[in-house]
Amino acid sequence: MATTTNASVLLFFIDGLGIGTRGPSNPLDNLPGAAPLAVFQNETAEAFLDGIVVPTDPCLGVEGRPQSASGQTTILTGVNAPAQLGYHKQGFPNKPLLEIINAHSIFRQLLAAGISPVTFANAYTDHFFTERPRWISATTAAVEAAGLAFRSIDDLKNGAAVFMDYTNRILIERGVDVSARTEDEAAAVLARIVSENRFTLYEYFITDKVGHAQNMSLAKTILTSLARFIREVLVRLDLEHTTVILTSDHGNIEDLSSRNHTLHAVPTIIWGDQRKLAASRIKTLADITPTIVTILSHKDAQSEK
Ligand SMILES: [Zn+2]
Repeated sequence: MATTTNASVLLFFIDGLGIGTRGPSNPLDNLPGAAPLAVFQNETAEAFLDGIVVPTDPCLGVEGRPQSASGQTTILTGVNAPAQLGYHKQGFPNKPLLEIINAHSIFRQLLAAGISPVTFANAYTDHFFTERPRWISATTAAVEAAGLAFRSIDDLKNGAAVFMDYTNRILIERGVDVSARTEDEAAAVLARIVSENRFTLYEYFITDKVGHAQNMSLAKTILTSLARFIREVLVRLDLEHTTVILTSDHGNIEDLSSRNHTLHAVPTIIWGDQRKLAASRIKTLADITPTIVTILSHKDAQSEK
C-alpha cells in the first residue's frame, strides 16, 4: 500500500532570541522550565524530544547589528535581504524588501511547488481589516504575496487561530472580547492548525520587546511560558510526519545588559523525522526557506514511490 501521509512543517518564529553566554544578563541562565529555549554558547543543549540545535548566522555577511525587517524577509524568502540592501533594515520592510517578499515569499514558493494548504496561524485584530496599517510586517507581506486569507479574532474565538500573545492577555487588556488561554490550550489550537496544513507559520514578538525594555523579571516570566507553550505544541504533533523549525531573526533577549540587538548566532531548533536533513542544510537565515521547500518536496517524491 502506498502511503498517503503527507509531510508537514511548522515554522515557529521568535523575534529577538539569540544564543548567549551564561551569566546575570541572560534570563535563560538557571531558569527552571526553560527547555528547549535554554541554549548557550559552547554548550550542548538539553535535547527536548530529540531536537537538534543549529546555531544560525543572522549577520549574513553584512556589517552592523541584524535587524527585524531584513532578517524576517530573509527567513521568509531564502533571499539574503541585508546583502541585497547593503544594510540591516529595522522595523518594517521598505520597498526593496517588499519586492523581494512579493517575488519569493515562502508561501508562494510552496504553492508553486504544489504544496498546499499553507497558512499563517496568527490572528489579526479587527483594526487590521478595517483600517489597513501603512506599514506592514514581513510576515503580513509574505501572506499577501500568496493571496492567502488572514485569520481573524472570530477565528480565534472558534479555536482556529492563535494570537501573537498566545495567552490572549494583550487582547484582553485592549478590550477585545476573548477568553484567556493557558499555554496548553493555545498549544492544542496551534497543533490542530498544523495537523490541517502542509506548512504553518506562527510568530511571537514579545521576546524582542522585552529585550529592548531590558526587563529581567518579565523576560523570565515570558520565556518560561513560551518554553512551556513550545513543549506543549511538540508533544501534540505527529513528529514522524511533521518537522518543526524554530528560529529567530536576531539576538536580543539573551543579553539584557544592552537594549540593542546582539551579534550572536540564533538558535534554529529542529524536531521531527526530517531534523537531520534540515540541520545539515541550515547555516544562515537564508537557508530556512529552501530547507522547508526541500523537506516538503522530498517527502512528496518519496510517497509517490
Ligand atoms: Zn528589535
